Amino acid sequence: MTDPTVSNKKRTLNRRQILKGVLGIGACMSAFPLTKAQALKRDVDVIVIGAGVAGMAAAQALVQEGYDVLVLEAKGIIGGRLKTDWSLGAPFEVGAGWIHGPVGNPITDLAKSVQAKSFVTDDDSSFVFDHKGGEIEDKIITNKFKDLMRVYKKIDDTFDSDQSLEKAIKRVSPQTLEDPVSRWMLSAYTEFDTGGSIENLSAYYFDEDEAFDGADVVLLDGYDSILEPLADKVDVLLNHPVDNIEYEAGDGVTVHANGEAFEAYAVVCTCPLGVLKSKKVKFSPALPSRIQKKIDRLGMGNVTKAALKFESAFWPIDTQYFGVMTEDKGRWNYFLNYRTFSDENILLGLSVGAYAGKIEQLPEKDIVDDCMMVIRDMFGVDIPEPMDFLVSRWSKDPYSLGAYSYTRVGNKPADFDDFADPVEDTLIFAGEHTTFKHHATVHGAYLSGLRAAEQVMELIE
Ligand SMILES: Cc1cc2nc3c(=O)[nH]c(=O)nc-3n(C[C@H](O)[C@H](O)[C@H](O)COP(=O)(O)OP(=O)(O)OC[C@H]3O[C@@H](n4cnc5c(N)ncnc54)[C@H](O)[C@@H]3O)c2cc1C
Repeated sequence: MTDPTVSNKKRTLNRRQILKGVLGIGACMSAFPLTKAQALKRDVDVIVIGAGVAGMAAAQALVQEGYDVLVLEAKGIIGGRLKTDWSLGAPFEVGAGWIHGPVGNPITDLAKSVQAKSFVTDDDSSFVFDHKGGEIEDKIITNKFKDLMRVYKKIDDTFDSDQSLEKAIKRVSPQTLEDPVSRWMLSAYTEFDTGGSIENLSAYYFDEDEAFDGADVVLLDGYDSILEPLADKVDVLLNHPVDNIEYEAGDGVTVHANGEAFEAYAVVCTCPLGVLKSKKVKFSPALPSRIQKKIDRLGMGNVTKAALKFESAFWPIDTQYFGVMTEDKGRWNYFLNYRTFSDENILLGLSVGAYAGKIEQLPEKDIVDDCMMVIRDMFGVDIPEPMDFLVSRWSKDPYSLGAYSYTRVGNKPADFDDFADPVEDTLIFAGEHTTFKHHATVHGAYLSGLRAAEQVMELIE
């Protein structure tokens, strides 16, 4: 395009100019030019790749401002890592389960807008078992937790270069790694929070992100109910996995999905970090090395969930969580008791970090058998088999390839935040992995989507 209004680096285009440019004689934006008829049918102002929370938030904000937006989604449903499965009779949150820190959290507002009923999960209501089923006193848990916080503080005070969290602990307090209660906390708290294993987490930055206030809540009508206001009046093309994104300063983008080409002025790419790492989506030209390096460097963690439904409850129904100090770090060491907020007799087990990555290679039934072994350690060998189960395996999902991003040793906050700089004023990244402050969360994804929408609005009037 030779339009003089687009010659400055930070230019603002009028949308009519863009469309004129796209459809004009000789205005070939790509090596796959569309026919005029196709272009007329397909052309939009902005293409959003991915209908997860980030993509839908960006699309909704743009639609509200009158932009023509098309969302291209690889799967047959919207929501991405926000997905509620009701087949067990209660909401199994395959991906995100909690609104972390609901006070001041924009996701709480979305939940309120659909009158979603919430339930505050009580972190203080728990039984923790050793690996032989012996119960650990609350007092021990409280004291060991304080010890662990002291170890983390000592790490902060002692080192001025990065290393893995495991190495740092070994250096300041080697006994912490040997102590079964502390090992359990490292896994059930830190590895679950971050998705990364302590061998890979940055000792410097693993816990430097920010949180909203308030005790975590689950949504009794399903977490995916918050998608409804985001999806209103937004055009989403499902079953359209994008495989190629061509972008050029001043010339807009051509996005290829399902053998079709779609043209727009700008593209918001919310492909998860795991997908970007896999290089299954090609960029032409190749991404600048400042972005590619971050994709390669950042950690993508794993969390496996198994919801097991039983005929009746053989566990104390009023206790929120059961912890178990499995010998393998990360192996089913935390269980959420559905009976505290539902009539269904469901225990939801969590495996995290390296163990989650390993277990997800197995068939579902083997994963459930592994989880049952741990439940039997807690409640006895005579408990029955589950009537039904559901298992998540995000590392095997080709459109996620992991659970959420984490700060790997050597990463810096800028490795997340630098994604926020548009590439060639046409390609804008969003998604949970593009914000250090709130990465690995639904609200982080949402806020990144709003940020991307604002960037588009700055570029296209
Ligand atoms: C097991 C698990 C537990 C979690 N627990 C919590 C929690 O309790 N609380 C919390 O706040 N957060 C939690 N999270 C994190 C939260 O789910 C994510 O941070 C958030 O949903 C990510 O949103 P996103 O839009 O960035 O990415 P996604 O939701 O992954 O959206 C990306 C979309 O892009 C699509 N896509 C991928 N590749 C392509 C392609 N080539 N072409 C077109 N479309 C494509 C995907 O199908 C997907 O729909 C959890 C995540 C997992 C996996």
